[in-house]
Amino acid sequence: MKYVLSLLATFLFCATTMAQMTPPRTNKKYTAYNESLNKQKLADIRRLDSIIAAKIQEDDLDDFAMEGDNPADEIYEGAWSTEGVNANRVDYAKVPDSVYIDCSGYVAPIESYITSEFGPRWRRYHYGIDLKVTIGDPVGSAFTGKVRVCRYDRGGYGSYVVVRHSNGLETLYGHLSEIKVIEGQEVRAGQCIGLGGNTGRSTGPHLHFETRFLGNPINPKKFFNFDTGKPLVANYLFTKEQAFDYRSSASAAKYKKGKGKKSSKGSGRYHKVRSGETLSGIAARYGTTVSKLCKVNGISRNAKLRPGQRLRRG
Ligand SMILES: [Zn+2]
Repeated sequence: MKYVLSLLATFLFCATTMAQMTPPRTNKKYTAYNESLNKQKLADIRRLDSIIAAKIQEDDLDDFAMEGDNPADEIYEGAWSTEGVNANRVDYAKVPDSVYIDCSGYVAPIESYITSEFGPRWRRYHYGIDLKVTIGDPVGSAFTGKVRVCRYDRGGYGSYVVVRHSNGLETLYGHLSEIKVIEGQEVRAGQCIGLGGNTGRSTGPHLHFETRFLGNPINPKKFFNFDTGKPLVANYLFTKEQAFDYRSSASAAKYKKGKGKKSSKGSGRYHKVRSGETLSGIAARYGTTVSKLCKVNGISRNAKLRPGQRLRRG
């Protein structure tokens, strides 16, 4: 388009120049003619200039739209980075107080059961939930969206993928054995983004699944039912207080208190693993379940027990 316009400009210039080459003979008439010609020429140039300027602006806007066309751009204010999970994290204080998050398009990443919950685990905080996988199981994107990050993090997530969705959520899939997408790729809900695995800081094959809003983790169970594979509500009313309740000093204090109380009771709250014992055997002995045992100990269902290992009973 710019090329066509410049051709047109050249043509107009030539045409007016040629007209100038055959002026009327009398001086007076020539001056008047020349003045009107100049006015016309100036007007033409101005008109062309404004057309070209408008076109350039339009092209620039088009380019911007193309580069900035990422899901939930209005929420993230155009921020998009492939530099890891927290590259676009918005300070908690600046997260909006409430916003609706459309969860209707959710497809469970994998049909499986939870082996570790969101929450305090050992001395770290577990910002996602763990789902049992067999290495090679296809893992699907929870919603339609665009892949923001594909990385390998040896001491943490292992091979992981972060996808941003138009509802403002980002989902993270960790410990994959293989990544099947590339950064910037658009994916449909349920589309395979990688294969289940045991890479990174992981004690057995599982999918570490996180949901984040503006970079801040939220317990995925607030949105989804992992028994049915369906969203809890189609349109989730996100409120900062409810979504980030784990941050409150009250729950942190409770956690500290609970931990202190348990450890003060000493070894009575613990079980020392003997050779040949299984998690289900230990669970049965103390009237609890394998998943509860796994949860309080921060281990996966098929973690290998070693004789002498101390396990919290519940
Ligand atoms: Zn995990």
